[in-house]
Amino acid sequence: MMQKKVVVVGAGAAGMMAAGTAAEFGASVTLLEKNPRVGRKIMITGKGRCNLCNNCDIPTFISNVPTNGRFLYSAIHHFSPGDTMVFFESLGLPLKTERGNRVFPASEKAVDVVDTLRDYVTNSGVRIVNDTARALLTENGEAVGVKGERETYCADSVIICCGGKSYPLTGSTGDGYTLAKQAGHTVTELKPSLVPLESSDPECKSMQGLSLRNVALNIIDNHSKKEIYSDFGEMLFTHFGISGPMVLSASSHIREMPDGRYTAVIDLKPALSAEQLDKRLQNDFRENANRDVSNAFSKLLPRKIIVPVLKRWGVPFDKKCNVITREERHALCGILKGFTIPLSGFRPIEEAIVTSGGVRTAELNPKTMESKLVHGLYFAGEVIDCDAYTGGFNLQIAWSTGRLAGECAAY
Ligand SMILES: Cc1cc2nc3c(=O)[nH]c(=O)nc-3n(C[C@H](O)[C@H](O)[C@H](O)COP(=O)(O)OP(=O)(O)OC[C@H]3O[C@@H](n4cnc5c(N)ncnc54)[C@H](O)[C@@H]3O)c2cc1C
Repeated sequence: MMQKKVVVVGAGAAGMMAAGTAAEFGASVTLLEKNPRVGRKIMITGKGRCNLCNNCDIPTFISNVPTNGRFLYSAIHHFSPGDTMVFFESLGLPLKTERGNRVFPASEKAVDVVDTLRDYVTNSGVRIVNDTARALLTENGEAVGVKGERETYCADSVIICCGGKSYPLTGSTGDGYTLAKQAGHTVTELKPSLVPLESSDPECKSMQGLSLRNVALNIIDNHSKKEIYSDFGEMLFTHFGISGPMVLSASSHIREMPDGRYTAVIDLKPALSAEQLDKRLQNDFRENANRDVSNAFSKLLPRKIIVPVLKRWGVPFDKKCNVITREERHALCGILKGFTIPLSGFRPIEEAIVTSGGVRTAELNPKTMESKLVHGLYFAGEVIDCDAYTGGFNLQIAWSTGRLAGECAAY
């Protein structure tokens, strides 16, 4: 059989997996990357520690992919989270599994993941070229190459792995969507996912930088009055609204965000029942009996949130603690157990962890990742209309689709 020529566009997670795999399966592979260095986005994943996959079974994986999870059945069966772990460990990268089955390199360094992948790619014989793909070349409905800024690259198969539109400084500027459209593909609406949330509440700005640990967060749909997200953990206030791990996760449970539709409700004291909290307040007020109520919270609450709590409470700041009524105390308990932040929108896609939307899955063969419109054209990774929750699932999409596309493109 003649050796296939494969061009892979984008040396991110999916691209390096696809290129190395295609070379392993006998193809002559050129990997185009617009940055001088490969894997720039991987470097910032998991706060520099790279949560590279989730050590879970396939149904759990699929349930963590809210957009087109079922499209990934073949890819994930072909290259599962377990296969991902074996893959990296057999390349000499020890891994460890943390809370929630999140898998990290034992060194806790994302750069080790990048180095492992780069070595895998080069040792498999892939030629890495620093060039930016500008156009897809097709003839009679077949992919025949890629026109780069510097050179033109002929190919029997092309795999597009340009990522999404988030964190564009890493190189993921949405070029994959342009290339896909050139081939006649539909690109579904692009939206931010796993993204901080904006609030019109000016008090968020005054609490900017305040990080809350061990709080409970609920997101309430004001129309249906239903709770659409609930978690316990860490979040923070920013000049525009709220962010942090729980908030990013919450964002991927919200499709549209018309102003006023959703409210974030924070339980500032989830470890205490309402009765326990009331007792605690009685004690604090007793200890501060002759002081202004505004001075009674230094042990209970972080400094930056005291004024916003007092404002929501509505009791004069200089009211003495010993004249606070039972009703007033109960109202305060309600505020501490349900501190509300009205939500007004998502932060822009550039600040999102992943881009939701992309190349329409119905136009791709799920068993190969090949385009149904252009023979020899493949897609892998975030450029496809699939996105997942946090926990290593997004990188798993890149590994599984990259592996499948690489293998199929090499045949
Ligand atoms: C801050 C942050 C933290 C994250 N943490 C995690 C995590 O811990 N776990 C997890 O599972 N996911 C995480 N993600 C998501 C994950 O990084 C992405 O889903 C994943 O990197 C997508 O892989 P990809 O290969 O499709 O795209 P990318 O990794 O974005 O790679 C695309 C590559 O293509 C190149 N490229 C683009 N256009 C061209 C062109 N025209 N010519 C040549 N090259 C081009 C880019 O420069 C880039 O190198 C995180 C994302 C961010 C932003």
